[in-house]
Amino acid sequence: MKVAILGGGPSGAFAAERLASAGVRTILIDEKLAWEKPCGGGLTYKAYNEYPFLLHNDKPKRIIRETVLTAPKAGSFTLQLRDPLVIYSRYELNNFLLERADQAGAQIEKIRVTQMERAGHGWKLHTKAGSIDADFCLVATGARNPLRDTGTALTPNDTMSALGYFVPGNRERIDIQFLDRLEGYIWVFPRAGHMSVGICGKGVPACELRKRLEFYMEEQGLRREGATFYSHLLPCLESHAWKKNRVAGDGWMAVGDAAGLVDPITGEGLYYAMRSADLASRTLLNEALERTEQAYRRLLRRDFAADLELGSRLAQRFFHGKYLFGAVPARMIQFTRRSPTFRAIMQDLFSGTQNYIGLKGRLLRNLHGSLFEILGSFGFSRLVPRKDIAA
Ligand SMILES: Cc1cc2nc3c(=O)[nH]c(=O)nc-3n(C[C@H](O)[C@H](O)[C@H](O)COP(=O)(O)OP(=O)(O)OC[C@H]3O[C@@H](n4cnc5c(N)ncnc54)[C@H](O)[C@@H]3O)c2cc1C
Repeated sequence: MKVAILGGGPSGAFAAERLASAGVRTILIDEKLAWEKPCGGGLTYKAYNEYPFLLHNDKPKRIIRETVLTAPKAGSFTLQLRDPLVIYSRYELNNFLLERADQAGAQIEKIRVTQMERAGHGWKLHTKAGSIDADFCLVATGARNPLRDTGTALTPNDTMSALGYFVPGNRERIDIQFLDRLEGYIWVFPRAGHMSVGICGKGVPACELRKRLEFYMEEQGLRREGATFYSHLLPCLESHAWKKNRVAGDGWMAVGDAAGLVDPITGEGLYYAMRSADLASRTLLNEALERTEQAYRRLLRRDFAADLELGSRLAQRFFHGKYLFGAVPARMIQFTRRSPTFRAIMQDLFSGTQNYIGLKGRLLRNLHGSLFEILGSFGFSRLVPRKDIAA
């Protein structure tokens, strides 16, 4: 069997490595190969714990152990990360993953695929330089997937804009800034040699996001001179869109952004790109071709898609909801500041070890202890029985 992988970002490159190293004849086709894709480049513990080579290598990257969270009316809180965030430039990360695919034996071609055409039980892929035949296709062409009949059919409601600047300079911490009336946030991610300063937001025109980001940068003394502007789309599926998400069909499976697999609250997509590539490769290796569509769908759902679907229902409540008369991001920062129990939950959210499905139960179970800790932090400790604080 010959498998063609369309797109050589993290999802395509990782799938190519997996398949080629299992002995499958694999061709990866990307119009740019390694490039500085607009991205923060942050990998959570969940990603490098599952795929340790992302941490243990000699490629340029930053390992960041401190994050400052800020929200209107809550001020800032500095969280020392138990599990650091690993940050790459996307050129380095893509190049690294493509090198691994190459070493595993995948054939790599730099050209744009202009059309996919079914030819018998296989495919004819059209490029400017002629056509390529394949028995099966993995579609890994990202959020701006130009191949209309395969991959998630993203509507404007299923995306958010993400834009920012690569700013010369250095920092030892990550900054996350929540803003009033924005389903999204601003980030400052230090990378090797520069910083990625960006904003993402759903339902807001890109020009307004840019204005809010530039205002923030001026306030923070982050200079735009010498900085490079970037912008891109981020899949952010509405909850009903998960139900009919087109992740696979006859003779193809989609992975990463082309399958809409991004966390609708945090915008994390790198882990899901690699994980879906892993699951799609396993499906191809273990299932008969006619069963891949259903098998991949099931595997995705069981592994993380059901959790992301719940995330899409929580997103509105997180960014626009109120808790105890305050905005949820502000309450989150206040609780993190005052309650060690809540802080432990935040650590797990940052590292990716706390999923959304288990979050509600954990918050409810710990609410009692957190509230007592918060009261204690205001000097009401004599009202609080010691065993409650300990709990
Ligand atoms: C501004 C921004 C910040 C982000 N920050 C983070 C972050 O910090 N952490 C995180 O986890 N996620 C982040 N994400 C999400 C992350 O960038 C994506 O989820 C991830 O890149 C998806 O990988 P992918 O391989 O599926 O797609 P992509 O990385 O988009 O790769 C798609 C590839 O397909 C190629 N291609 C497309 N069409 C064709 C064609 N017709 N022929 C040939 N090749 C083609 C492209 O050249 C590209 O190389 C961010 C996204 C944005 C926009």
